[in-house]
Amino acid sequence: MPFPNTQLSLHLTYKRRLQNPAVQGHLPENPAYDLRLTTNIMAKVGINLVTGSIQQEETIVGIDLGTTNSLIAIVRPDSREPIALREIDGLTLVPSIVHFDAYGGATVGTAAKELLLAEPERTIYSVKRLMGKSYKDVSGHAGAFAYKVMDDDTDSLVKVQVGDKFYSPIELSSFILKELKQRAEHILKTPVNKTVITVPAYFNDAQRQATRDAGRLAGLDVLRIVNEPTAAALAYGMGVKADEEKTIAVYDLGGGTFDISILHISNGIFEVLSTHGDTYLGGDDMDRAVAAYWQEELGIAHSELGSDKALTQQLRVTAEEAKKHLTNNDSFEGEIAGKNVSLTRAKFNELIQPLINRTIDSCKSALADSKRTTADIDAIVMVGGSTRVPLVKESISAFFGKDAFDKVNPDEVVALGAAVQADILSGKNTDMLLLDVTPLSLGIETMGGLMDVLIPRNSKIPNKAGRQYTTSKDGQSSMRISVYQGERDLVQDNRKLAEFNLTNIPGMPAGLPKVEVTFLIDADGILKVSATELRSGVAQSINVKPQYGLTDEEVEKMLLDSITHAKEDIKTRAVVEAATEAEQMLDTTVKFMEKHKDLLEAHEQEVTLAQMQKLREAINAQDKDLIQKEQEHLNDISRPYAERVMDAALKDAMKGKKIV
Ligand code: ADP
Ligand code: MG
Repeated sequence: MPFPNTQLSLHLTYKRRLQNPAVQGHLPENPAYDLRLTTNIMAKVGINLVTGSIQQEETIVGIDLGTTNSLIAIVRPDSREPIALREIDGLTLVPSIVHFDAYGGATVGTAAKELLLAEPERTIYSVKRLMGKSYKDVSGHAGAFAYKVMDDDTDSLVKVQVGDKFYSPIELSSFILKELKQRAEHILKTPVNKTVITVPAYFNDAQRQATRDAGRLAGLDVLRIVNEPTAAALAYGMGVKADEEKTIAVYDLGGGTFDISILHISNGIFEVLSTHGDTYLGGDDMDRAVAAYWQEELGIAHSELGSDKALTQQLRVTAEEAKKHLTNNDSFEGEIAGKNVSLTRAKFNELIQPLINRTIDSCKSALADSKRTTADIDAIVMVGGSTRVPLVKESISAFFGKDAFDKVNPDEVVALGAAVQADILSGKNTDMLLLDVTPLSLGIETMGGLMDVLIPRNSKIPNKAGRQYTTSKDGQSSMRISVYQGERDLVQDNRKLAEFNLTNIPGMPAGLPKVEVTFLIDADGILKVSATELRSGVAQSINVKPQYGLTDEEVEKMLLDSITHAKEDIKTRAVVEAATEAEQMLDTTVKFMEKHKDLLEAHEQEVTLAQMQKLREAINAQDKDLIQKEQEHLNDISRPYAERVMDAALKDAMKGKKIV
């Protein structure tokens, strides 16, 4: 008998269609709930057992959590078009600024932005720059923040102090996300609990995890973290057709940051070939250049500006106003402190030319890293409010030798793409598969401090890799698994992400345990490491949540270092490998001599001990050839008596047994 009105929750795990076409067979007919193209996600579908109808799903929103501005977008259920959510005031952008009043009450957005100059120590901007970072990471840029960034313990994550309260960047971002969630609920008149959030392509595990945590703190279930350039491409409908293959450049010039990413799209897979940029270059620098120009024109002294906040504010606001005005006009007229100021498009272009040149240099580097030339680029996508500046567009088009894609509003394009991805995850969209890649190789430390790579750099995400290891000592009951990120052969030159011990391995001779280490990177780029001793089933695993993040410059430096040191690394690896092998031989020899003392002649013992000493010296000298030579020599010395001992043992074993 059926149970009337019972909702049954089905948990279905879908494999990627590319791998397992048969999976489609299990899916409901209704195309709106066809989840076949999502990548290994867990879908929960409510089905009414009586009517067979499927429970209405809620809207999943896309969020662009920007350094300067944030916004929220959805795919319209009727027209299937992505749109940015607009308040009654017509605005879509929410300034990413949080102000705290004396009682700790938070205000987010335009109202907070207005207090930037009046209450600098209570008004927090550019939080995104602090996500997943330690004080050490940002200390060089302390001047970029007018509020107090805490320096207590240099290796721990940064905190911001406001009055007598401390806030982590995760908490601060969660205030912005909460505000966005409330806005969306207000506009859509429905609860909003699920989201897709975008992050820069160079964000590492720590920064992605921090973003995800901020979402959770704001009461949002973050279904996916998507790279901003990937989202921008999606908003232009790229990657939709199965047979589509292209290489694109995504140029993102925001308020305070600049990124260029080269993406390769094929079969609905988005691969980040390279990224480059400047985390301290953007539209704000254009405003500063204009303000500085006027300051000189008006003969305002630096000291005057320092003491007159209102004047500083006016200069900056008017400069931004002029910049925006010049996007559509040839000249600007305004007033500052009762005096007239003006700016022509030509003068403005002259002021910002050096800034644009710096972005072009980054484009060159990104192209070189991706081993592509401008001729290989099929399309250029413009992202970020500052790409509205005509000279930016012209310069970029000229550099790449073709017109840039700028039809979609550059402030909104990332959020719109996030909405498209949300739509794919909700199962309402079709043929798309999103893949990102790992920026650096991931591996574990093996004997002698060597880096053993399990997932190479530029591997597609999600990804899984496993390898078997064994013990080096008899009866070894625990094994340390140290996880590293980087391209160098020695772990000491790479970056440690995590460490754990696999304990309770039952006593076995060296080399017998089989420890399988598995790396699993989920679709958000978060790494799970597990280790299992296969003979006993002892297992242990951790989620890698690194203590602090790497900047894109650091990632780049690590890559460069690996190239510069490649030769030297190969040499070191060879020495370490030879030394490890020699150490094992020394170990075995010592044990053998202890066990079979009686069977060895005095002079044999003497010669062996002397040769062992020579081998130790060779190891200390780090000379690979010498180590190998001395090891062979030791082998030659021990071979005769080793054989003799074996023969004796064999005879022993035969004793008393009848040989037919
Ligand atoms: P972010 O990604 O850093 O959050 P946005 O993409 O929102 O930043 O870009 C913000 C920047 O865009 C600001 O510096 C703003 O002044 C600039 N901007 C917005 N509109 C225009 C315009 N019409 N002309 C020139 N610059 C603009
Ligand atoms: Mg942006």
